[in-house]
Amino acid sequence: KDSNTRENNVAKIKVVVRKRPLNKKELAKKEDDVVTVCDNAYLTVHEPKVKVDLTAYVEKHEFCFDAVIDENVTNDEVYRVTVEPIIPTIFERTKATCFAYGQTGSGKTFTMQPLPLRAANDLVRQLHRPVYRNQKFKLWLSYFEIYGGKLYDLLGDRKKLLMREDGRQQVCIVGLQEFEVSDVQIVKDFIEKGNAARSTGSTGANEESSRSHAILQLVVKRHNEVKESRRKNDENETKSGKVVGKISFIDLAGSERGADTTDNDRQTRIEGAEINKSLLALKECIRALDNDQIHIPFRGSKLTEVLRDSFVGNSKTVMISCISPNAGSCEHTLNTLRYADRVK
Ligand code: ADP
Ligand code: MG
Repeated sequence: KDSNTRENNVAKIKVVVRKRPLNKKELAKKEDDVVTVCDNAYLTVHEPKVKVDLTAYVEKHEFCFDAVIDENVTNDEVYRVTVEPIIPTIFERTKATCFAYGQTGSGKTFTMQPLPLRAANDLVRQLHRPVYRNQKFKLWLSYFEIYGGKLYDLLGDRKKLLMREDGRQQVCIVGLQEFEVSDVQIVKDFIEKGNAARSTGSTGANEESSRSHAILQLVVKRHNEVKESRRKNDENETKSGKVVGKISFIDLAGSERGADTTDNDRQTRIEGAEINKSLLALKECIRALDNDQIHIPFRGSKLTEVLRDSFVGNSKTVMISCISPNAGSCEHTLNTLRYADRVK
């Protein structure tokens, strides 16, 4: 069948690495670019080391992923490699997730920001295809944040949200605002509104947002006339329609924040421990998914609990690991690549 073929053509898990260019600061410091993208699947890192006699030498590390994207590649091309192939499967009951992982400053937000916009554009176009015309499909958007293990609605005045479990692998975030989106300009406005609401704290936007996971979801729902009684028995049946499929875009907390567990500030330590826990749990869930394990360890963190319905059934996962090219970031870069390697 056509739908099966299409589903099978898209990998269940795809791990992509994106290298950003050296920035002005790194160029001014004449930092070396230690990351070499060899072809579209291989890369090497030349780790600067210092011997006991202080003679510098370099250790070479090689990695292979589903795709490696160098610093000259545009966001449009990143979309084509990562999210575009998944779009048709959303109409076939797939729950997809696209993560950006990496240290603060490696390009996660730069990479993630345009993706939901392009995805919404393609999804809206699909809704209007003749084959779907009678199905009354609609597209919905929500945007929230996980900060210190708690959920906040980025489109609902940062209201604190609670997750409800129903024991049937369905996730319900009580009170999360959802908006119907019929054109891309609206999506753009919501993304901007949500970004402005992200955790900023007292120390400035980038510093604090690096300690939270931002989750933007695009959900396709079918709007059939259903009886009230049937609705109550089915968690998928919400007042705005029945969930067909969805895609979640997740701008993860800076991976280096998971190491903040020895910081002098108590709050920072707590947040660091939470981030560490969630990134480890995420890795374990994706690995379990890859091995077709029946038991998915999503209870390990709030992040994975929220995503539990995306780790079962028809699921697609794209991990975009963002790396900085400069010698000074080498240790973080290797940590990111090792994490991605374990997920693969
Ligand atoms: P993160 O979200 O991981 O902390 P950002 O996305 O904010 O990192 O990126 C840090 C800086 O690097 C930003 O100024 C961003 O515009 C720039 N940048 C990141 N990736 C790229 C890229 N591929 N090409 C050009 N500039 C980039
Ligand atoms: Mg960011």
